[in-house]
Amino acid sequence: MVKSDFFRNRQNCFFKCLEFLNLIFGICLIFAICDLKFAAFCRHQLMIIAMGTIRQQIIELLTEGEKDARELSRAVGIKEKEVYEHLTHISRSLAAKGSHLTIQPSECLKCGYVFKDRRRFTRPGRCPRCRESHLTSPGYRIAPK
Ligand SMILES: [Zn+2]
Repeated sequence: MVKSDFFRNRQNCFFKCLEFLNLIFGICLIFAICDLKFAAFCRHQLMIIAMGTIRQQIIELLTEGEKDARELSRAVGIKEKEVYEHLTHISRSLAAKGSHLTIQPSECLKCGYVFKDRRRFTRPGRCPRCRESHLTSPGYRIAPK
């Protein structure tokens, strides 16, 4: 009788402990998730701020004068590929503000072909006329409309 009571009490205590641990674990988990979410949120906000300042820097550089993608990537400290992405966004936001991102088109260094109708910001790979790949880099500039 006494023995089984003792056993039952121990069992009860064991489950109470388990419940308690479960609760602690749950709270820790919630905190961990909140922390991760918060960290991700901070990182996201920082990235938005960084992107904004990079775009602002590019806009300032292009307002000063014509630059090509390599000059911009070196001045701002990002990859050339990222410069093109920023240029796309910049040209869109400038259109709303009433100024304009102009492109000095690439030119073939061999036959003089000018890529006048090219809408994309990236450098073309090859000249369609002579198949040569020695081309000038397109230059970008911001001009009021
Ligand atoms: Zn050519």
